[in-house]
Amino acid sequence: MPLTLHAPPVHNGDGAPAASDLTAAARRAADVAAAHEAETDSREHPPEPGLAALHSEGLLHAPAAPSYGGRGMGTLPDLHAATYRVLCEIGRGGLPLGRLYEGHVNAFVLINTYGTAEQQARAAEDARRGHLFGVWNTEIPSEAVRLGAMPGGRMRMEGAKVFCSGAGRVTRAVVPGDLPDGQRQMTLVPLDEVDAPADPAWWRAEGMRASQSGRVDFDGVVLDASAVLGMPGDYTRQPLFTGGAVRFAAVQLGGAEALAQAAAEHLQRLRRTEHPVQQIRMGEIAVALETGRLWLDGAARLEGSDASPDEITAYADMARSAIERVCLDVLERVDRAVGARGLVPPSRVEKVGRDLRLYLRQPNPDGALAHAGEAFLSRLHA
Ligand SMILES: Cc1cc2nc3c(=O)[nH]c(=O)nc-3n(C[C@H](O)[C@H](O)[C@H](O)COP(=O)(O)OP(=O)(O)OC[C@H]3O[C@@H](n4cnc5c(N)ncnc54)[C@H](O)[C@@H]3O)c2cc1C
Repeated sequence: MPLTLHAPPVHNGDGAPAASDLTAAARRAADVAAAHEAETDSREHPPEPGLAALHSEGLLHAPAAPSYGGRGMGTLPDLHAATYRVLCEIGRGGLPLGRLYEGHVNAFVLINTYGTAEQQARAAEDARRGHLFGVWNTEIPSEAVRLGAMPGGRMRMEGAKVFCSGAGRVTRAVVPGDLPDGQRQMTLVPLDEVDAPADPAWWRAEGMRASQSGRVDFDGVVLDASAVLGMPGDYTRQPLFTGGAVRFAAVQLGGAEALAQAAAEHLQRLRRTEHPVQQIRMGEIAVALETGRLWLDGAARLEGSDASPDEITAYADMARSAIERVCLDVLERVDRAVGARGLVPPSRVEKVGRDLRLYLRQPNPDGALAHAGEAFLSRLHA
């Protein structure tokens, strides 16, 4: 049934952690989320214990701009390595939580980069108070979101979004829509102040249940001029648009780490860790996971350098493709390692594997690899 009520923030986060403490804060939040993982494997509820831990650790506030008390995590180049470690940790604690947090960070990257000072200040204050942000772009062509101009700079929305992670839970969403001239314009929708019914039940996938990636109907929503975010075309501006893929890859890698950990515990319980074949599999998994971490470090290094937007996007496409391969390799080896006995619910291997398999399906994977190949070819011919 469609929902119009959005859970109000209930915790009092007391400021973002220092930049040097971000990873430790993420590890603590991830441990809380992992401890509650079995009970939050449901399409009915978002992963509240993990979300509460993100808030109380100051991690909802951390991506806000430093001028407004945040750390600029996700936006400032010298924090990219820490950002990826944080996202990896949260993904380790739970992939649905990681998906929600990655959307939150993505929203702040867009607000910090394209928003007015007033929008940045308000967003920072909202995050400090516990609001969860998201970015909802995916739509079905027949009901794509359109934005109509109204007097006073206001805008009237028509259409709906699907795959909206945190539908019914996110209270601030960056929602791009088409202007009458066909240009794409971002809006920042205060979901607790407008009537945009969320339908979390639209989300029937077996994996990533608690991400509640449902449908939200924006038909008839009227936005103030202050909700218009950035300029037409900003949403897909490079290198941010493609470069952002490294953030979801970091969450995916955290999921693969959790899967490997769950498999190792399963083998230990069955006293099967001494078998040489299992040890070889675990060796291959260890190599794969380290490969993923090195790609994240490489992406952070490049983004912090004077590399061109083209170099950054090509590297991001390689990194996400490499990490997808890492995760698929880990999934296959873990399945073989634990066998059917390890894949029967309520096994953590089954749960994390089910989430990871779906969360790996992020947009346009073939296009990403093709773009990486094109960039490689043009370097060879330069
Ligand atoms: C758990 C989860 C949460 C999500 N949350 C959000 C969210 O909060 N906000 C949001 O905006 N989106 C969200 N998404 C959606 C996501 O970002 C992607 O938009 C979505 O996964 C795209 O999937 P797709 O299968 O439609 O397309 P793609 O991944 O683009 O395509 C799938 C396959 O089809 C092939 N293909 C594509 N086009 C063609 C063609 N014309 N002809 C032949 N083959 C083609 C591709 O090569 C690819 O192999 C979420 C997705 C998941 C899985």
